[in-house]
Amino acid sequence: PQTVDRKRRVMLKLSGEAFGGGTLGVNPDVVSQIAREIAAAVETSEVAVVVGGGNFFRGAELSQRGMDRARADYMGMLGTVMNALALQDFLEQAGVDSRVQSAITMTQVAETYIPLRAIRHLEKGRVVIFGAGAGLPYFSTDTVAAQRALEIHADEVLVAKNGVDGVYTADPHKDPNATLIEQITYNDALVRGLKVVDSTSFSLCMDNGMPMRVFGMEPAGNVTAAIRGEKLGTLVHR
Ligand code: UDP
Repeated sequence: PQTVDRKRRVMLKLSGEAFGGGTLGVNPDVVSQIAREIAAAVETSEVAVVVGGGNFFRGAELSQRGMDRARADYMGMLGTVMNALALQDFLEQAGVDSRVQSAITMTQVAETYIPLRAIRHLEKGRVVIFGAGAGLPYFSTDTVAAQRALEIHADEVLVAKNGVDGVYTADPHKDPNATLIEQITYNDALVRGLKVVDSTSFSLCMDNGMPMRVFGMEPAGNVTAAIRGEKLGTLVHR
């Protein structure tokens, strides 16, 4: 499905934690900055986005505190929709057309997830934001980013991280000798026990040859650069 004259198409995974700026809810300054960075790159690339929901709820955490896991996961998914709407708003303010597609039907606020329509939006230069995860409990938004990337034929998954700018030989916050790995195969990352994304997301990308670039959201300009294809952080490939 990749043709030579096609625009670069990326799947950008943003964590909910980033949206909250460290607290519960949405920090408008952070989201508007992200929106402006995406806006600066839409001329040259087609951009799909999956947003997490960790700034609202994480199902696993709520279930540890006594809630039914599946119900807590649905709360988590609903949180991602709020983040998706916030991003849509700031994209609009930055002059970029966007559509939110939700994996859980809520026709008043978002389109339903329809992959072919999502591709059409991308071809028209619209940013497509996928909300509500996969619509399935026990999944993460990292996994959804991998699955959606495959389904819309993205060239690369871009995993934007807070507080770390790629994959390291060891935890850089604990080991002063840890060094950044610029390129690694999925297999080597597995063998060396390097945590990149959760295992379901990892194996989907590995099994289907979807490359993944893990990079830091800081400093400002990194999101734009990653979308444009600059070689930031770590490339994980087959
Ligand atoms: N979630 C889910 N199914 C999905 C995607 C997300 O159940 O397909 C729930 C899950 O409870 C998760 C929460 O939504 O903890 C928020 O997503 P995630 O933790 O991936 O967000 P991030 O860590 O990226 O902010």
